[in-house]
Amino acid sequence: MWQKISRRDFLKTSGAVAAAAFAGARPASWAQDAIAAPEKHWFKGNLHMHNQWSDGQPLPEWAIDWYKSHGYHFICPSDHNIFQAEDLRFNGFGFENPPSDMAPFKDETSLWKAISPTPGWPKLTQAHVDQAMAKFGKDSVRTITAGGQTYARMKPYSELEKQFAEPGKFLMIPGYEQTGGCSNDQQVHVNFINVREVFPYISAKTPKEILERTFARGQEVYQGQDYLFTANHPLWRYYDYSPADLIALPQIRLFELNNNDIADGFDAHPQGWKPEKFWDVVNAHRAAHDQPLLLGLGSDDRHSYTPAPKAWTVVRAAQLCANDLLEAISAGDFYASNGLDFADIRFDGKTLSVKIDVREEGPYRILFLGTKKDYDPSSQTVEVAKGPRCPARKIDIYSDAIGVTLDTVEGVEGAYTLKPDDLYVRAKIVKAAADLQPDWQSQPAAWTQPYR
Ligand SMILES: [Zn+2]
Ligand SMILES: [Zn+2]
Repeated sequence: MWQKISRRDFLKTSGAVAAAAFAGARPASWAQDAIAAPEKHWFKGNLHMHNQWSDGQPLPEWAIDWYKSHGYHFICPSDHNIFQAEDLRFNGFGFENPPSDMAPFKDETSLWKAISPTPGWPKLTQAHVDQAMAKFGKDSVRTITAGGQTYARMKPYSELEKQFAEPGKFLMIPGYEQTGGCSNDQQVHVNFINVREVFPYISAKTPKEILERTFARGQEVYQGQDYLFTANHPLWRYYDYSPADLIALPQIRLFELNNNDIADGFDAHPQGWKPEKFWDVVNAHRAAHDQPLLLGLGSDDRHSYTPAPKAWTVVRAAQLCANDLLEAISAGDFYASNGLDFADIRFDGKTLSVKIDVREEGPYRILFLGTKKDYDPSSQTVEVAKGPRCPARKIDIYSDAIGVTLDTVEGVEGAYTLKPDDLYVRAKIVKAAADLQPDWQSQPAAWTQPYR
């Protein structure tokens, strides 16, 4: 059944999926929805991952096969600053290894990467090649030796899609990650999902400027296409972009609430915000100013494929196709997870009702979180010292009145009706018995989108 959620929000957005198409797909009323709407299903996916097309460890076919054989329905192989195109090339993110003799590559296509005798970022080693050959056969990886150096061929997107995509079972969506940063080395990465053309990274003095200009450039380059723009991992090298940046840029609708790669490697400053607080700071402002709310994705951003991923996104759509998935994501009909699942999420304009998909023994807890209209929007600035790979910077610390628990339900079903002084509400589910850590590192958990 359709959620009567963010049509109002969506029509105000300057995001990528055409509002007209969205409006056309939505019947006029809730009652009609029940009759006219096709049955919808939850599809599990990951829109941020890497393989040897950039600096991920496995070969692309090994990586994609991993998701397909582990219950995922859709993926976007989002390598750094590159699409898996068929043009012959020998360079990419962090590597440049043209052969001394081009003759053996005369009629070849795609990316050829030198096999390095030593491991290290972002090198390809024989062990990676062997891993793919063990799974798909000796002939599955082509190699050419030229000038004493052996190269392995990375399969382009077209071949990977032919090998793995299966209608109704497994969908591949093209895309890539724009990777770079400011002159002080603050990193700003964004994903363009459902595109095949890569434009050069736009660097600038501030993260806000990079986000703003990259978003605008995307609108020019991908004009007329249905695509998504996601602001990735705000907390990679410590506070890369800030809530203030996304407050200033309401056109950005999607960010990574839970990025597996970051959760594992980088700790937030003890006084600083973590992604869940970041989310509430931005949405308190947006809701108070009648702007479209920021939606939160889960992605694993895997480079190494051990251990198992701890973040993904589950989308509710009629069919497993890029159009339906992009429309559902733009409308906020999805949740982020690192282990738990919703059986149902509904919002009727006033009441958010959720039901947990119980896959293992409980007990479970449902938290309804939000911010009140009279919250204190001010912030205090703290200095963060320079770290090994991160510059010194100032970060804004916000009031505890932002992102508060509005209600708690012990059980597997619950509902919360917005009160006149609520700006928005979102639900988070956790295992009540688990040894919980605060916000983004809570495991296992799942997060609905915010509703107002
Ligand atoms: Zn990144
Ligand atoms: Zn990444």
